[in-house]
Amino acid sequence: MFANRPNYEQGPIRPPSEADSLLLRLTRNCPWNRCLFCPVYKKEKFSKRSIEEIKSDIEELEKAADKIKKISLSSGFGGEINRQVAVQVQSRNPELFQVALWLYGGGENVFLQDGDSLLLPVDQLVEILETLTEKFPSIRRITTYARSRTLLRRSVDDLARLKKAGLGRIHVGMESGNNEVLDYMKKGVTYTQQVDAGKRVKSAGLSLSEYVILGLGGEKWWRQHALDSASALNEINPDFIRVRTLAVPAASLLYEKVQSGEFKVMVDDDVVREEKLFIENLQGIDSYFYSDHILNLLEDVSGKLPEDKEKMLKVIDRYLSLPAAERERFCLGRRTGYYRTMDDMQNDSLNSSVERLYKQLQDKGLTVAQYMKQLMLRFI
Ligand code: SF4
Repeated sequence: MFANRPNYEQGPIRPPSEADSLLLRLTRNCPWNRCLFCPVYKKEKFSKRSIEEIKSDIEELEKAADKIKKISLSSGFGGEINRQVAVQVQSRNPELFQVALWLYGGGENVFLQDGDSLLLPVDQLVEILETLTEKFPSIRRITTYARSRTLLRRSVDDLARLKKAGLGRIHVGMESGNNEVLDYMKKGVTYTQQVDAGKRVKSAGLSLSEYVILGLGGEKWWRQHALDSASALNEINPDFIRVRTLAVPAASLLYEKVQSGEFKVMVDDDVVREEKLFIENLQGIDSYFYSDHILNLLEDVSGKLPEDKEKMLKVIDRYLSLPAAERERFCLGRRTGYYRTMDDMQNDSLNSSVERLYKQLQDKGLTVAQYMKQLMLRFI
């Protein structure tokens, strides 16, 4: 183990909404690993971690928390984990820093990694959840990823047992509700399976977060992708709908299909039009809608359905009604971090920075669209 690495195992990813959560790895990688658009676990083999390994990691976390508390006591903070304690831990025991930050934030949220934790036997999951909540009474929310196919192998009673043991939310990568898109992208599930799995999670009383990838239908299926994704979500009524925008890194299997011209990636403006159709067709549900991913162009398309639907559509219409040159400048400013929302285009100093960048691209003979493609890969 390197000196500045924690003495417990961690996987590579977590949802954006779990940025401040403690990460506990239950399985390694993804049991499916075939989705064309997904570069994350390619070349990595799936395995379940043993309950002994996982419980040993929980013990390591407990030891780390004890050490941090001692640092607090010896520094005169009475065991409280405050900012000064976190800073001290960072310089004296960097391997404990993640746990110190988590405790400083209240020690409330935990995310169980990697791609499909519910493949572990339910009894083991219950034991892990109970151990975690017993060792860390501060925990308020435990969440995990699960595939729809795996959820269909668990009964409502099984899922309700997990909820009782402390699991609060399941994140499902629906990606699309359209069967042609799901099939082409080798997602390994159908519209009906996605809907049935989502309904099962809800019936067990668990919170459900469903992810949709804007642009996943490409130029060919964008309309059906928007309509069927909305339809599936209308049937499920998840607690959260989260969107992210397709980017195609070289490590993904989709990359070759893009290079050969078989799959045509949509430009930003068309993705925004697709998002509009998608939101227009979300009906009869009371989900929260979030664009909480750096790949999304319009992060302020977010709110509670149905009451914020018009507000969200107005953000989209505002973007689409901008002159083409301003839309291009906004994309450039947003993707390079100068702008967060279109309101930032009122700021002269930010505009000057974006304009300078635009001129630099021109000098290099690069178009904004070409530069955007390079940038989108950096965010994956
Ligand atoms: S199921 Fe999820 S983690 Fe696995 S390959 Fe597909 S998108 Fe990636």
